[in-house]
Amino acid sequence: MPSEPSRLMRHAVGIVRRLAGGTDAGAESGTAAARRQEQLAALLTVSQAVTSSLDLATILRTIAEQVRQVIHVNECTVFLIEGDELAPVAMDVESYAEQVIACRLKLGEGITGAVAVSGRGEIVNDARRDPRAVQVPGTPEEDSALLCVPLCEREQPIGVITLVRMGSNGFAPEDLEVATLFAAQCSAAIAHARAYEDARAAYVELHETQAQLLQSAKLNALGEMAGGVAHDFNNILAAILGRTQLLLQTSDDPELRRQLEVIEQAALDGAQAVRRVQEFTRVRQDERFETVNMDVILASVVELTRPLWEAETKRRGVRVAVEVRPGATLPVAGNPGELREVFTNLLLNAVDALPEGGVVTIDSADRDGLVEVRVSDTGVGMDPDTCRRVFDPFFTTKTIKGTGLGLSVAWGIVSRHHGTIDVESEPGCGTTFVLRFPSGSTIASGAPASAHAPLPGREVLVVDDEEAVLHVMADMLLMLGQSVRTAPGGREAVEAIAHRMPDVVFSDLGMPEMNGWELAQAVAARAPHVPVVLVTGWGVQIDADTARRRGVERVLPKPFSVEDVERVLRELPTRGARQAA
Ligand code: ADP
Ligand code: MG
Repeated sequence: MPSEPSRLMRHAVGIVRRLAGGTDAGAESGTAAARRQEQLAALLTVSQAVTSSLDLATILRTIAEQVRQVIHVNECTVFLIEGDELAPVAMDVESYAEQVIACRLKLGEGITGAVAVSGRGEIVNDARRDPRAVQVPGTPEEDSALLCVPLCEREQPIGVITLVRMGSNGFAPEDLEVATLFAAQCSAAIAHARAYEDARAAYVELHETQAQLLQSAKLNALGEMAGGVAHDFNNILAAILGRTQLLLQTSDDPELRRQLEVIEQAALDGAQAVRRVQEFTRVRQDERFETVNMDVILASVVELTRPLWEAETKRRGVRVAVEVRPGATLPVAGNPGELREVFTNLLLNAVDALPEGGVVTIDSADRDGLVEVRVSDTGVGMDPDTCRRVFDPFFTTKTIKGTGLGLSVAWGIVSRHHGTIDVESEPGCGTTFVLRFPSGSTIASGAPASAHAPLPGREVLVVDDEEAVLHVMADMLLMLGQSVRTAPGGREAVEAIAHRMPDVVFSDLGMPEMNGWELAQAVAARAPHVPVVLVTGWGVQIDADTARRRGVERVLPKPFSVEDVERVLRELPTRGARQAA
């Protein structure tokens, strides 16, 4: 697009011609001509300095500082329009800098404000006589002359350069011409710098969004994979744990019991490890959130971990101090146990990063409606490559005791709380983890069912295609005083129901031919009062409301203990209660 030279530029070209002694310069004395040449040379140098930068702050500072080379003045202030005000953004003044920087003018206010509105430069040689003039608060009233020229972008004023000469030595019309020319250069430089800043901000934002997307895509893929493995392990552990617990119930031999207890503990530990893998997949939905005071959580984490960072580091002969600076007041909807796990992981990582001792600081504050917690240490820090990978599952730099799961678990938990977790670190300069949680509260849930009433006896139909799990569940139910029938799949279960309706159905979810959801629908169609319990290795990923809508009364995650099964039986509605509800 051929660009029409702006009014300002046409004007500027005219001035250059005159200053250079062109058409309308007329007869001039030698000294005046020499002075103009000097001015023009200075103008060129200054313009180059201004236009050679793309940094707005540098440009503004250069304008203010260099203008004296072109026009001799006592003060130069650059104002930019911000909303309906003019703000001083750069200045070169001999005195009262603080007073000038604090002075904000409304558009139209003062001579500077008038020029910002009219878009035309002005000389006011006796400022005290001009009714528009405003005195900068805190400065003495003195004789002064003002020269104001507008800064424009696409012919619209964006600011004003204001020059002040003290005393009675006023400005000449040529000074206004030079200043106008200079302002045209500055305007172009400011426009370029602003465009460059916008482009750079957009680029940075895009880059960050991309990195975040990549991170969550990576973790989601890993989560899905780990979730599948976790499911299989839960089946295996269900068989081991259930069998062991059943044997424990029947055996009196102390040596045998001791060994069984070792197996039981190993299975429970295994279940715990699997739960941690499922943690960072972010699909876990079995939890109930409650209203949490973050500062209470932080204080309890510091107390609970005290033996680890105090006694343990003392034993190593170094000193680690943990300082908490609570300041958050907004409530957070969350799971206290999980949040404690997050901060425990962060605190223990920080202690690990302090082999020579140091300080761990935990700050909390309300910020922009969010609760922000910063966990900082003065430890070894991380290089950028490590920083990028800390949230990856199984990433660890600790050769012996690291699992690499601490931060990926923290990431999963924070994400499920709709929060964010970020890391800032440099080698040798410590590390800061910044966590932000949206504030919110929840209504407390009802009281749990009484644990000591006798368990009502029911007929339970157990359905599972994994034989080992099927029989463990059947035996546990028998032990709990229930009468039991079994079916190795959905189709067989439907046949069994047609033959005689049980009081309760315990069904596996993933079965060939007919899965747990389909069986639940079939049961609901025939006998809506018969509750269905879904027993599954995916347990933690199914939320209770979805399950109810699909005809499932309860979800029981694998592996399950005798106590888990008993609790479910207690919480089931008794016959007829479901119909009434
Ligand atoms: P682990 O602690 O088992 O190694 P994490 O997921 O908790 O696993 O941490 C992963 C890695 O992140 C650590 O091995 C360590 O390299 C790095 N890291 C985490 N926190 C810090 C910290 N505060 N200072 C320095 N490095 C850290
Ligand atoms: Mg860790």
